[in-house]
Amino acid sequence: MTADARAVDLLRGTRSAVLARIEAACARVGRDPSSVTLIAVTKTVAPERMAAAATAGLRTFGENRVQEASVKRAALVGVDATWHLIGPLQSNKARKALDTFDVIETIDSLDLARRIDRLVADDPGARLDRTCPVLLQVNVDADPAKSGLAPVDLEAVLDELAGLRGLRVDGLMTVGRLVATPDEARATFVALRGLSERLRARGAALGPALSMGMSDDYEVAVEEGATAVRVGRALFGERPHAHDDEASHRHQAATDGH
Ligand SMILES: *Cc1c(COP(=O)(O)O)cnc(C)c1O
Repeated sequence: MTADARAVDLLRGTRSAVLARIEAACARVGRDPSSVTLIAVTKTVAPERMAAAATAGLRTFGENRVQEASVKRAALVGVDATWHLIGPLQSNKARKALDTFDVIETIDSLDLARRIDRLVADDPGARLDRTCPVLLQVNVDADPAKSGLAPVDLEAVLDELAGLRGLRVDGLMTVGRLVATPDEARATFVALRGLSERLRARGAALGPALSMGMSDDYEVAVEEGATAVRVGRALFGERPHAHDDEASHRHQAATDGH
């Protein structure tokens, strides 16, 4: 077998294992597994391996850095995949993010949302009519180390965003609190789902998507209603070195036993 074929084979295996766990979690709560999207978190994963992942059936990629993703997307032109931004977005990278990603999951301020709306509106090219699908990142646990909107601010923010045509709020996203066991993450997922249900019941312009759960707790997230789980290490193995982002701080702290 060539190295490429071996990589595809391995990724078929890890993908099947994760999908089986998602299916089992769905079965426990009577959900349809097709209602859950597996986002393969590919930060630090090389383009060649991402191509193998796509061949193995992983067609939704999550990346947390605009520059890294932009380079990889250019290298993977021709690979049929949908790209989600799952890391913090600085205003000055918004244009590049729009050129790189299909979905921006990390809208954490009204200013950022307005900037994206303006960029989409001003785009003179083929994307004149484009509406950017976004999720609002919510800091459910009011963790000072995390970005995200405070739950109490969501309703007002959604009211403001309802008037913007350049973006469409498909749902909510959260990065779970640091916990020792998957079950301790449950409260965060329950809270995000409750927020979404209450806002939607009140008529907010908010779609039903709930992006929550990572390698350590995605099954619990699925039990509590996740429509997308963001899984890196369970598919690709440990990342080579601590990657400077919220999720790896969380993992690192968990490993250190805090
Ligand atoms: C890295 C990352 C993930 C995936 O984490 P794993 O523990 O590797 O599954 C999910 N969400 C965000 C926001 C991340 O940065």
